[in-house]
Amino acid sequence: MLRGMDDQVVRDLVAMGKFLGSIDGVGVKKAGGSRAPVTAAPSLRAAPTKSPAAPEPLPASPASRPPAPVAEILVAAPRPARDITAVEAALTAIRDDIGDCKRCRLCEGRTKIVFGQGSAGAELMFVGEAPGADEDASGLAFVGRAGQLLTDMVEKGMKMSRADVFIANVIKCRPPGNRPPENDEVATCQPFLEAQIKAIQPRAIVALGATAGKFMAKSGDPISRLRGRFSSWDGIPVMPTYHPAYLLRNPAAKKEVWADLKLVMDVLGTRSE
Ligand code: URA
Repeated sequence: MLRGMDDQVVRDLVAMGKFLGSIDGVGVKKAGGSRAPVTAAPSLRAAPTKSPAAPEPLPASPASRPPAPVAEILVAAPRPARDITAVEAALTAIRDDIGDCKRCRLCEGRTKIVFGQGSAGAELMFVGEAPGADEDASGLAFVGRAGQLLTDMVEKGMKMSRADVFIANVIKCRPPGNRPPENDEVATCQPFLEAQIKAIQPRAIVALGATAGKFMAKSGDPISRLRGRFSSWDGIPVMPTYHPAYLLRNPAAKKEVWADLKLVMDVLGTRSE
């Protein structure tokens, strides 16, 4: 079945299979390794043509989406040596600043504030929407079913340890009934995520789902249009992609997410040749 495909395509299929949990055996260099040449500009990827309101990806239509201005972020900037203790202290200060937050109405229904967790030295950061029930109960980001799938994306797909990335959300408290955050709730919580990003200085950010994708890309476009292309957050490449919770309902969209994660590995230089 694979006859006629080149080696890279075969490797991609094997790695995607691992992400999907069905095939074994692909090697990817660990984060922080040497940078791989990026040969295909993410900006030139074809656009999905789905109606803006619907998140499901549709077949590509090259004419429908203009190239994005991302030439400067095809390869993530290397970072100077970091004082991890200072980053940890900065994160602690941000958490202290949040305190027992009562800045918005979400404090009324929350159990625990979900600050986010991971490595202060993370080169890759994931930003989700908001805590769900499991996160609200535990105080940890992405620990429910969507979180397990995110772990698979990171560990089986990208061949990184979840402990080596940093995972946070646009807002830190669970909205009632898991409704999407209101604009004023996002605006109130925004300084804390911004401060986390500034402290960690990741080399790339993956924004998960519509809320995070729109926020991080500073765009009102639907996630089906935002995904697959980098934007920049203070010079840090941001890749919006579908939310793991969406993938649980629509497993067919994993292939788009895998394509997006490969572009992220390209800018990090962690994708196998
Ligand atoms: N969904 C999110 O967006 N964030 C979490 O932490 C959990 C589920």
